[in-house]
Amino acid sequence: MNIILLGPPGAGKGTQSAGLVERHGMRQLSTGDMLRAAVKAGTPVGLKAKEVMERGELVSDEIVSDLIDAELAAMGPETGAIFDGYPRTAPQADALDAILARNGRSLAHVIELEVDEDALVERITGRFSCAKCGALYHDTANPPSNPGVCDSCGSTEFKRRPDDNEETVRMRMQEYRAKTAPILPGYEARGIVSRVDGMAAIDAVADAIDAILRS
Ligand code: ADP
Ligand code: ADP
Ligand code: ZN
Repeated sequence: MNIILLGPPGAGKGTQSAGLVERHGMRQLSTGDMLRAAVKAGTPVGLKAKEVMERGELVSDEIVSDLIDAELAAMGPETGAIFDGYPRTAPQADALDAILARNGRSLAHVIELEVDEDALVERITGRFSCAKCGALYHDTANPPSNPGVCDSCGSTEFKRRPDDNEETVRMRMQEYRAKTAPILPGYEARGIVSRVDGMAAIDAVADAIDAILRS
């Protein structure tokens, strides 16, 4: 089963993807994570993407679609894909259709996480992750159960993203409204869109997503 998690920055896509990987053995394909890895490694893609990401603008469609294409081609056909943060534009949505078709896959669900925009700035400015395993946390909404120690791997090193500041978040939300939200009607016409209340507690959002996957 292949699904898209759609929602503005901070909606909970990464958090819910991690849960789906754990519960259902699916694979998370996050273009944001892939781009950050490329920036860290200093690859040609990383060099092109770095400043664009720091401004909160979108990286070129070609770059992200190539990343997704390569990752999907390397996956076993029985493993379901969770597209997290991709597609984000109409050309990316078209590219994904072509990539899926080439790999003999189809889209089962597009799950939109509906969130209140005012809450997003707080979610994003409070976001941090484990430096070792990448587990996601929030200062107040989702801290490690043992302060300063990662629940998943026990590491005591954490990090924050350079683009998780209020100014960049506003730009990212603007990009979402202008370029990403308009891809939804195309998926609605195919009858594959479901909506989930992304303001609910993390476990409740996970239950709602599981109910959609069973439907
Ligand atoms: P996205 O991948 O959509 O940008 P994340 O999954 O990284 O969003 O979540 C953003 C921040 O909000 C993280 O710090 C995360 O711990 C927190 N968070 C995620 N889901 C919820 C939720 N349902 N309620 C409260 N906080 C949440
Ligand atoms: P968030 O979790 O806050 O939604 P991401 O980690 O998905 O953010 O993305 C971080 C940044 O990486 C984006 O602001 C953008 O610059 C770039 N990026 C990620 N995915 C895409 C994509 N599909 N198309 C274009 N740019 C992308
Ligand atoms: Zn960890």
